[in-house]
Amino acid sequence: MSVLLRTGVGTLCAAARAVIPCLWRGKCFSSGKELGENSPVTPMLRHLMYKIKSTGPITVAEYMREVLTNPAKGYYVHHDMLGEKGDFITSPEISQIFGELLGIWLISEWMATGKSSTFQLVELGPGRGTLTGDILRVFSQLGSVLKNSDISVHLVEVSQKLSEIQAVTLIEENVPLERNAGSLVYMKGVTKSGLPISWYRDIQDVPKGYSFYLAHEFFDVLPVHKFQKTPQGWREVFIDIDPQASDKLRFVLAPCATPAEAFIWSGETRDHVEVCPDAGVIIQELSQRIARAGGAALIADYGHDGTKTDTFRGFCGHKLHDVLIAPGTADLTADVDFSYLRRMTQGKVASLGPITQQMFLKNMGIDVRLKVLLDNSDEPSTRQQLLQGYDMLMNSKKMGERFNFFALVPHQRLPNGSHQMNARKSNPSPAPVAGFDELAWR
Ligand code: SAH
Repeated sequence: MSVLLRTGVGTLCAAARAVIPCLWRGKCFSSGKELGENSPVTPMLRHLMYKIKSTGPITVAEYMREVLTNPAKGYYVHHDMLGEKGDFITSPEISQIFGELLGIWLISEWMATGKSSTFQLVELGPGRGTLTGDILRVFSQLGSVLKNSDISVHLVEVSQKLSEIQAVTLIEENVPLERNAGSLVYMKGVTKSGLPISWYRDIQDVPKGYSFYLAHEFFDVLPVHKFQKTPQGWREVFIDIDPQASDKLRFVLAPCATPAEAFIWSGETRDHVEVCPDAGVIIQELSQRIARAGGAALIADYGHDGTKTDTFRGFCGHKLHDVLIAPGTADLTADVDFSYLRRMTQGKVASLGPITQQMFLKNMGIDVRLKVLLDNSDEPSTRQQLLQGYDMLMNSKKMGERFNFFALVPHQRLPNGSHQMNARKSNPSPAPVAGFDELAWR
């Protein structure tokens, strides 16, 4: 740990990121329907209405996919939605300590699994590139530990706008980026610390070597199907044009069973569920890769362990937003169902968590890191921002309990060949994986 501690005032300034009045997306609310005021007819709304008129009502999953990632008009494709001027704020944008501790986690797993001389750092949905940037800074500071390692960076990003911002954050500007929009690797460059970096639209296209996968606030934007239990069985929620107002959308229930019902767990007891087949596909891909080539995945998001029902919601300008109003201008999201992710690992790898962000960061030594940064800062505004950032990340009423950490590791990584450990159980078996073990830093 001590190698990481920095004293330079310049470095400390970088820590002062917190933008406290912003809204984070994990914040709970009912449905937002009561917020509906003006409903501008956006290009996306026109596109969706045309689609519904041609082929009938669409599933919530199709609605999310179109609104968020349609290549021409999708919310993520052309927006920078993060930060004070955007629609929501995320932990890496709040404090550099967050990324630093995740960097330590990766190195600790790398060391625990035999210090492979070659490894890939893969981030899914990297936003502004801030988390990877903070992790690469940790790698540089721990150069003596990682020396002789052949590290490459791989970003999975569908947004053209965000990939440009990621490049500005991460790449060495004197080495020109190679661009090839038609290729599976649509951008390539060299990071500020001299590592090769590549961009992909799909995890399937990332080389299958020994890798550490990170997904922070990524799974919550993947499209969900919504189902309601009725006396006739599960019925899927669709989106249709409102017959009372031809420029508005409304939710309707399908009159009969639909194929996505196959994704509902046979033991399901809730009467409303959200299922995310895309999350299942990605988790299975990560599980297979880790089982075959080694490494680990660290997933951090807001979510639940198979208990919540209606969590589909929208965010615009740091406010909750009716999901059916002005589509394309607001972020859409649904809580991650970690119990579903765990089932989708299908015994290929061991899973840890979900545990709260508060517990994970505490186990990773956030208090020690904060103290060092505070001890090295004389600037009252920097100290205040560090404390505010800490409070936002850790406070139970803020992000501390709403966000969860979940990890995938090879079975042989855990003692006793344990297949699963849920750290929320009262007597979890001790697991020597940093962050998930309370004793990790004693
Ligand atoms: N991880 C970042 C950003 C979270 S926002 C942070 O925490 O700050 C979600 C990110 O996922 C954005 O970068 C968005 O463009 C990307 N994204 C959304 N859908 C995606 C998909 N289907 N495939 C790859 N990236 C996607």
